[in-house]
Amino acid sequence: MSEYEFIDHTYDVVVVGAGGSGLRAALGAAQAGLRTACISKVFPTRSHTVAAQGGIAASLGNMSPDDWRWHMYDTVKGSDWLGDQDSIEYLCKNAPAAVYELEHWGMPFSRTDQGEIYQRPFGGMMQNMGQGPEAQRTCAAADRTGHAMLHTLYGQALKNDTEFFIEYFALDLIMDDEGVCRGVTAWKLDDGTLHRFTAQKTILATGGYGRAFFSCTSAHTCTGDGNAMVLRAGLPLQDMEFVQFHPTGIYGAGCLITEGSRGEGGYLTNSEGERFMERYAPSAKDLASRDVVSRAMTVEIREGRGVGPEKDHIYLHLEHLPAETLASRLPGISETARIFAGVDVTKEPIPVLPTVHYNMGGIPTNFHGEVLTKKGGDPDSVVPGLMAVGEAACVSVHGANRLGSNSLIDLVVFGRAAGLRCGESVEAGASQPAVTDEMTASHVARFDRLRHASGDMNVADLRLEMQKAMQNNCAVFRTGEVLDEGVASIESLYDKLPSLNVEDRTLIWNTDLLEALEFDNLIGQAAVTVNSAANRKESRGAHAREDFSDRDDSEWMKHTLAWVDAAGQVSIDYRPVHEYTMSNEIEYIQPKQRVY
Ligand SMILES: Cc1cc2nc3c(=O)[nH]c(=O)nc-3n(C[C@H](O)[C@H](O)[C@H](O)COP(=O)(O)OP(=O)(O)OC[C@H]3O[C@@H](n4cnc5c(N)ncnc54)[C@H](O)[C@@H]3O)c2cc1C
Repeated sequence: MSEYEFIDHTYDVVVVGAGGSGLRAALGAAQAGLRTACISKVFPTRSHTVAAQGGIAASLGNMSPDDWRWHMYDTVKGSDWLGDQDSIEYLCKNAPAAVYELEHWGMPFSRTDQGEIYQRPFGGMMQNMGQGPEAQRTCAAADRTGHAMLHTLYGQALKNDTEFFIEYFALDLIMDDEGVCRGVTAWKLDDGTLHRFTAQKTILATGGYGRAFFSCTSAHTCTGDGNAMVLRAGLPLQDMEFVQFHPTGIYGAGCLITEGSRGEGGYLTNSEGERFMERYAPSAKDLASRDVVSRAMTVEIREGRGVGPEKDHIYLHLEHLPAETLASRLPGISETARIFAGVDVTKEPIPVLPTVHYNMGGIPTNFHGEVLTKKGGDPDSVVPGLMAVGEAACVSVHGANRLGSNSLIDLVVFGRAAGLRCGESVEAGASQPAVTDEMTASHVARFDRLRHASGDMNVADLRLEMQKAMQNNCAVFRTGEVLDEGVASIESLYDKLPSLNVEDRTLIWNTDLLEALEFDNLIGQAAVTVNSAANRKESRGAHAREDFSDRDDSEWMKHTLAWVDAAGQVSIDYRPVHEYTMSNEIEYIQPKQRVY
């Protein structure tokens, strides 16, 4: 197989992913004096973070009284008590400094009249330990916050001498016999060469896997490649049943209309013109958290009060807002609504529908970004050499449901933490044992198998089948029967994998093969997601079971861990939720019923 000779590279740290979390981790490791490589399948500033709209949460208190403890309370409640409170404390306490750091690096935030960072209300963000009124906590650069943030971070990463490997597609983790991660292999898309990156720490920052579903707000690149590499390394993913549906994806197109639009005063109505959220969440109304709003919309549609000829969606109104506010605070979504829904937001409502938006689940880590597995009864056993940050990781700060604007802050707070951890635990330039061909043989075999796949079904057809199964059988409301059907559909897709066909056998810009690799990554995640959902017999956060409609803390206040084998068979175990905080600056927040 001389065709597949590797080009070898050695670094102290290699980061896979150049979104907000990957760039922040890479520049942190570089700042610590470590030789750092950052690999990305797309140009860094095209990572999905660029599409983030509404903002980044931090208790700066510029526009309403605020306190990191209030932010923590809201995040714990938002997580429906599945989040680990030590990690949530770390997130909320470090959030303001992380935002000021971005500001000092030149991120162009919107401003108040006093020149401070502009902050808007967002779902579930309150003052006074959930008592209210709403907190203005979400820092924004108009409705293009992710764009401003990603460009700022890319500039800083370059300034700090991070070495970029752009349009390299990472294939698999290099694991040695002792279970230590020793680096990663990659395929360079524009010349077809294969590469092997050896590193003391490998940080996965590969983002979410929204594309396992038919309708999602995330980019076509969001295929959770890092999650899949972890599964293939025989390690588990955590809490994969928790998939967030954003209430306001544009009907049909799926593009996101930011929650910031409701933060600025937008509201939802049904076919009777009723502002129905008042019935479901009397105090927070349209700014209840995302799972609550998505379910309310789904109930309205099911009960025949949807809008449009098919009565199958809901209206989002912004036309009552001053045109000036729309132009200065929400210019991006005004344009999106015009292009994708043909709607002038100053005159008419936008047709919207709950759409897959975020994956709370992912690679289990501690708040340093170190990957965890359950080993010999230890639920917090660190996997040496492997770290994860961003949407790919499950720290777990979002638990069963993420609050809007808490992801961007998660990227920079835990990206920074991972960089700091590398600084503490990696010796710059230390010699590393050589990686052997044996360690990467399975990577090459998988690559070669997919490249020469010669069945009678193309990638797009199999992918569509998976996406439809996930959309129909693992949605906003779930029952045992529907989920079991989903499990069976994904199993039968596994049976069809041998009939996959890849037409193009070349190695240069072979998008057919690229999509096959991505699909192969997605299917494993689809399997663990639907199996974890069928397994969890309660309702919590985004996981709403009609057959088990209550949260059951005595049985289910625990993280799911799920492994999958090559045949698609999933096995499940658990990790305890951390029912303690990091310091004595705040006490453990006791579970309560979650009402808005
Ligand atoms: C439309 C939209 C709007 C959003 N708005 C907000 C918001 O306002 N506030 C908020 O807090 N959150 C928001 N979110 C969520 C948030 O933006 C994401 O969770 C976050 O940006 C993910 O960042 P990341 O660094 O984990 O990964 P991403 O930004 O998704 O980047 C992933 C990186 O990994 C690389 N990669 C992946 N696979 C491979 C591979 N095989 N080989 C090499 N490289 C690879 C990619 O090239 C990319 O660089 C929004 C999400 C969407 C979809």
